Formats: sequence, structure tokens, C-alpha cells
Amino acid sequence: MEILPCEGCKGLCCGPVPVTESEFKKIKKKIKSMPTKMRSELENQKRYYGTCIFYDLNKDRCGIHSVRPEICRMFGYYKDLVCFRKPALATKNIDQSDKEKHVGILTLDFTWKDLK
Ligand code: SF4
Ligand code: SF4
Repeated sequence: MEILPCEGCKGLCCGPVPVTESEFKKIKKKIKSMPTKMRSELENQKRYYGTCIFYDLNKDRCGIHSVRPEICRMFGYYKDLVCFRKPALATKNIDQSDKEKHVGILTLDFTWKDLK
């Protein structure tokens, strides 16, 4: 599969995203399993206003990549989630049936305080 040219974007499209309960549980587990130094480095980064609380600006990538929400995995590859840098890759249709409900928005409803 052709991939998006994300390097250098500095989290341009990583704003507040919706999560399901099970996704948030996985994120919580991941954060808790991180070495303290790494976790605090990620938590205390100065981000752009509106950038997702898990974006790792120092490394220019998602700080929780293996457990990122489904919407982040879909971004750029679905017709309603187009990346302006490579719109041709957004070809799939979203199937809303049998999807777990979102319980809130990362960065707005869920912040680092909810991960302690
Ligand atoms: S999906 Fe698009 S806007 Fe987002 S980081 Fe990748 S190339 Fe940049
Ligand atoms: S969870 Fe990761 S991929 Fe999703 S918006 Fe936040 S930083 Fe970006």
C-alpha cells in the first residue's frame, strides 16, 4: 500500500480525535507501561495549540503509535478523511455498521490527568 508522506508534517493533522472505550483503555495501558522518563518527556512537551496530547514533536511522530485510535489509522485512506498532501490515497468508503461508539475526544475530554 502506498503510504502518506507524513515525515516533516509535525503532527499537522493530529488534532483532537474521537476514541472508543476500548481504545482509551489500550492507550492507558500503553502510557502506564512506558518508562517514567519517556512518559514524562511525552507528557510535558510544548505542543502547538490544538495538537493531540500524544503527538511527539521531538520525534515527529505519534507518541502512542501502536495503540492509536482507529480514526488515526484510517486518516488519509478514506474518502471522508482526506489528507491534502496526498488526496489520491483517500479511496475507501467508511462502513459505519458494527462500529463501537465513541466515548469522547482525546485532548478535550481525555487528557493526561485521566491517565494517572
Ligand atoms: S496524514 Fe497528511 S497531513 Fe497528516 S501527517 Fe501525514 S502527510 Fe501530513
Ligand atoms: S493518537 Fe497519535 S496519530 Fe492519533 S491524533 Fe494523536 S498523535 Fe496523531
